[in-house]
Amino acid sequence: MKMKYPFLDLGAVNTPYADELVKAAERVVRSGRYVGGEEVERLESMLSGMTGAPYIIGVSNGLDALRLILKGYVALGVMKNGDEVIVPGNTYVASLLAITDAGLKPVPVDADIQTMNIDSQLVEKAVTPKTKAIMTVHLYGRVAWDNTLADIAKRYGLKVIEDNAQGIGGIATTAGLYGSRRTGSLGDAAAFSFYPTKNVGALGDAGAVATHDKELAMTVRALANYGSDRRYHNIYLGYNCRLDPMQAAMLTVKLPHTDRENADRFERAVTYSRNIQRPDVVTPMMSETVTDNVWHQYVLRVTNGKRAEFISRLAENGVGTDIHYATPPHRQPCYAGLPHSALPVTELLADEVVSLPIATGTSVKDAAEISEIINRLEL
Ligand SMILES: *Cc1c(COP(=O)(O)O)cnc(C)c1O
Repeated sequence: MKMKYPFLDLGAVNTPYADELVKAAERVVRSGRYVGGEEVERLESMLSGMTGAPYIIGVSNGLDALRLILKGYVALGVMKNGDEVIVPGNTYVASLLAITDAGLKPVPVDADIQTMNIDSQLVEKAVTPKTKAIMTVHLYGRVAWDNTLADIAKRYGLKVIEDNAQGIGGIATTAGLYGSRRTGSLGDAAAFSFYPTKNVGALGDAGAVATHDKELAMTVRALANYGSDRRYHNIYLGYNCRLDPMQAAMLTVKLPHTDRENADRFERAVTYSRNIQRPDVVTPMMSETVTDNVWHQYVLRVTNGKRAEFISRLAENGVGTDIHYATPPHRQPCYAGLPHSALPVTELLADEVVSLPIATGTSVKDAAEISEIINRLEL
């Protein structure tokens, strides 16, 4: 169905940059350098400047970024087969796939109903002698970071890994483990995804690892390049997970616009939250600061058990929506048998959440009109 208000129009997202993107693509075409090189290095230094993380490694995608961090820790002997990683129950399945792929055990912890992120009050109960890390996920763009998480990590000597696929540009209200407060430099290492739908999207798959740990950085760089530390010298059983310079070139065009784009998302979010008023809809918690949520998604809850109707009635009115996510990772067939504690909030969210259009292509006026449509829906 052709929507008056599409959920996401990637053409509209990239069209404002079309001329610059074409120029950057031409630069790559004429450079003769199609793996690694200047474009990748330029993006890495831009990301380092933006986040405050001293080491950045451009990689193939967000899942690979997470895998490489964890496999890097395994290669360095910081973690070993069977060790546990605490991860939010309410996340995209990729967070858990990376943990499993590194031979580690995901331990999902329930969400806070307000933030929809990991409930940091429940984290300490999930720590066992096998726990080696906490993976914090800035889900829907809301920065998942507080003193409780930092304190537990310090007391138990746990690594903190950020899944920053959805939180690029976010700023925490509390300082990170190394002082810096931008997402991507709050913990020991962070994974970025530049999948086209993310806040900063490439025109294909792309990702990056950010870290404060020089040894981990060197290990990740080697693992991503056949496990070699120098040409034809392989210290690890590695992979090919390098960042495509064409995508790096696209990203050097888009990255400088991150803060402005995120501010635009915030305006749309505020418009929804001010205007949507129904007893059976709970709008997402507004932020303490403008930057502690980059609004990757605007996720509300339909609490009357009629989500499917809500979505189809919106579609009839030309409003595209999506669900992030209808099935939490621990309910996926691939994780059948995964031991976990009760995750009632995660399961409630899976039944109630609906994402509204928030990206470029949806104007503030559109958001106001969509809000009115929602207020008038008869369910
Ligand atoms: C998108 C996403 C990933 C995976 O990133 P890809 O680049 O698609 O591999 C991981 N975690 C979260 C939370 C994501 O949203």
